Amino acid sequence: MPDYQHHWKDGTPVHLPLGKIVCIGRNYAEHAKELNNPVPDEPLLFIKPATSAVHVTRPLHLPPGQGDVHYETELAVLIGRPLTHASASEAETAILGYGLALDLTLRDVQSRLKEKGQPWERAKAFDGACPLSPFVSADKLPRGNIHFTLHIDGQPRQAGDTRDMLNPIVPLIAHISSQFSLMPGDVVLTGTPKGVGPLAPGQTLSLELEDLLFVETKVV
Ligand code: ZN
Repeated sequence: MPDYQHHWKDGTPVHLPLGKIVCIGRNYAEHAKELNNPVPDEPLLFIKPATSAVHVTRPLHLPPGQGDVHYETELAVLIGRPLTHASASEAETAILGYGLALDLTLRDVQSRLKEKGQPWERAKAFDGACPLSPFVSADKLPRGNIHFTLHIDGQPRQAGDTRDMLNPIVPLIAHISSQFSLMPGDVVLTGTPKGVGPLAPGQTLSLELEDLLFVETKVV
C-alpha cells in the first residue's frame, strides 16, 4: 500500500497532502531528439497519481514482465498555494520547495501506447513510478540556473540545467494552472534532460541537486 508523505531535507514532514504529480514531456530539446520525438508546440502534460509516489531512498522495485523500465531524472517543484489561471508572479510565489524525482517509465509499453495514440498512464502511473526526494526550501536555490545530476554506479548519466528547458519553470506552472488547478502539496516534474536509459537490478543511483541535496537508491 502506498504510504508516501512529503519531507524536508532535515527529515521533518511537510504538512501538505500529495494530490497529484503533473509532468511535462519533452521539455529539453536534446532529450526529445534522443527518443526521435518532435518538440511539441505547446507543453505536453500528463499526470502521475499520488499512489505512484515513493521515497527515493527506498529500494526501487521494477514491475516484472513489462519490458524496459527507464529512469528520467527531473527537477521536482513542490507547490505551496492553490493556483488557478495564475500569473507568472503568483506561480513564482507558490513554489515552496525543490527536490528531485525519477519519472520511471515502462518504455516498451509507452512505445506501444504512442503507436496506438493512447494515453500514457499504463507506462507512467504504476505504484512506485515516482520516487521523490526530500525537498529543499525554494529560497535556498539559486535564482538563475539550477543544476542537477544522476550517476549510476558512479558513472555520470544525466546532467540537467534549467536554462535548457523549452518551458521554464515559472511560465510552465502558470500554463499548467490555466488548464487545471494546482493545489498545495501537488508536485510538478519539469522534464528530463538527455541520457535516459533502462534500469537493471543491482544498480545504485545517486542524484544530486546543486550542493544542496544528495540521495542514493538501489534497484532490487
Ligand atoms: Zn519525464
